[in-house]
Amino acid sequence: MEAGRVREISTSMIRRMFEIVEKAKREGRDIVSLTIGEPDFSTPKEVIERACRAMREGFTHYTSNLGIEELRSAIAEEYGVSKDEVMVTAGGSEALLNASLAFIEEGSKVVIPSPSFLSYFTYAKICGARVSEIRTHETGFVPNPEIFAEIMDRNVSVVFLNYPNNPTGAVIDRGSAEEIVKIAADYGAVVISDEIYDKIYYDKKPVSLVNHENVVAVNGFSKSLAMTGWRIGFVIAEETLLNSMLKIHQVNGVCAPAFAQKAVAEVMLSGEFKRLVSSMVSEFRKRRDFVYGELSKLYWTVKPEGAFYMFMDVRENCIKFAETLISYGVAVTPGTAFGSWNENFVRISYANSMENLRKAVERIKGYYDSKEAQGR
Ligand code: PLP
Repeated sequence: MEAGRVREISTSMIRRMFEIVEKAKREGRDIVSLTIGEPDFSTPKEVIERACRAMREGFTHYTSNLGIEELRSAIAEEYGVSKDEVMVTAGGSEALLNASLAFIEEGSKVVIPSPSFLSYFTYAKICGARVSEIRTHETGFVPNPEIFAEIMDRNVSVVFLNYPNNPTGAVIDRGSAEEIVKIAADYGAVVISDEIYDKIYYDKKPVSLVNHENVVAVNGFSKSLAMTGWRIGFVIAEETLLNSMLKIHQVNGVCAPAFAQKAVAEVMLSGEFKRLVSSMVSEFRKRRDFVYGELSKLYWTVKPEGAFYMFMDVRENCIKFAETLISYGVAVTPGTAFGSWNENFVRISYANSMENLRKAVERIKGYYDSKEAQGR
């Protein structure tokens, strides 16, 4: 019954871990989950109140496929592009699928740095493409342009980039990112730059790759305004690329929820957006400093510059590590969910309260010490 294109797609490892954690909790065990892929903060009341008003005012119907003018203009202004280059989507994920279906040629190659967000691998499979991964473990979890140039050829249709990165928190510098975009352009490939964490950064400001002819920048408000359940994403690309994605979007997401579009547009236009993001980021910074400070004493990692994840080398099989750690009361995501060469890595999400993070760190130390006592 199942179509060939989905037969090879496995249910995500993150979901499996989620189920293990839920089962342990049902059994009454106290588990701190560091597997969460969304801010633990509530959506700001500034958004909720405006959305309720918008619903009462009748923003409950279809909008234009491209999104309401007010939101497109606000996004265009924020990113210094024309409104005609902006399309609002039902979350970042819809934008990623639209871009994949629009630009990944069947039988072509898709380049994905490892580690990367697991959905990119699924998009490549759905589109019938082969994946070519670039190892980034020795280069601070960002791809080296020279290595990238070596694996490129005319058969590559799409390159995925994602900085700040899920699962590592790495941020690429402008020079390398632009070099990669230029090399991709030389081979006629589209770069899908997933910039969904661009507002969540600490010291190094992330680069936006908008305004490059072969780049589709995917973004949204799921993370920056803690709105994962609202489904507001967007894509920025020059008009020809945007029109290709519109052909998919018009039959896929169709439009993002009208009242949510209106609420986000008003928050952006009111000037409150920056303040709301920065209060959340200053909390994340404290947690990043704590988690990195403590766990980097035990395991090798790269200091996260953005997002709310850290990726660490636990020097043993990640699935075994994750399963044993559950018995110590902590859940983490095994690295194999994020591409090749990650068998000994796990992802830590610090989108959790300081109290829970303190508990989790103590428990991880407990596990680490018992392992040391056994002589590893
Ligand atoms: N891109 C990355 C790198 C993500 O980590 C996520 C969510 O975890 C998404 C895209 C999807 O975002 P959305 O909830 O807006 O679909």
